[in-house]
Amino acid sequence: MVTQVQIIQWIQVFASVIEHHKEELTELDAAIGDADHGINMDRGFKKVSNLLPSFVDKDISTIFRTVSMTLISSVGGASGPLYGTWFLRASSATAGKKELTEEDMLKFLQSGLDGVIERGKAQLGDKTMLDVLSPAVVAFEQAVNEGMGTVEALRVAVSAAEQGLQETIPMVAKKGRASYLGDRSVGHQDPGGTSAYFMLRSLLKVVDSQKKGGRG
Ligand code: ADP
Ligand code: MG
Repeated sequence: MVTQVQIIQWIQVFASVIEHHKEELTELDAAIGDADHGINMDRGFKKVSNLLPSFVDKDISTIFRTVSMTLISSVGGASGPLYGTWFLRASSATAGKKELTEEDMLKFLQSGLDGVIERGKAQLGDKTMLDVLSPAVVAFEQAVNEGMGTVEALRVAVSAAEQGLQETIPMVAKKGRASYLGDRSVGHQDPGGTSAYFMLRSLLKVVDSQKKGGRG
């Protein structure tokens, strides 16, 4: 089970990872975009971080909805609405929940992905965050179907995300600002894919450390 407390910790860890990697994300975006991805994400997640104390007794769906609204109102560019949509769909998929089974986790990860696809209209191979989020959900689903628990399934999902991220490097960008570069986008890792990978890795980190703590 992933608890409401872990969800809050995840958002907190992700916010600090973004802060830590702000320059890196911005440099990746400087190569194929307009050098604002780290700045955009850090601005949004700093606001989200400031709201964390008010999340303490809220259910998971309410937390996700608040994250979504905050990102939509404070993160510019393509990534604000896309991450906002991801969290909004995650909110709908977790209505009333204070803890999540692996099936609940699959439902919310899948719903977030579907939202990004509907909103951004990107396809696999277009060199976007989708190339990281999609293989992660496929891997998570397969792992859950094989009987793995959340931690093991997330570990598999994060490896798939990492591989997906590496695979964005040789891709030609077909969506967003990077697409203006055409073939010149080849050889650069996608910034939004990088932040999406950090998001999933942060989730694993929080859920996994809790498990180890539980074992004593
Ligand atoms: P902008 O490109 O508007 O400056 P950001 O720099 O914050 O916005 O985010 C860029 C990232 O957004 C890209 O690296 C890519 O992963 C993601 N992105 C852009 N367009 C789309 C889209 N249509 N669908 C999915 N992801 C997209
Ligand atoms: Mg940008």
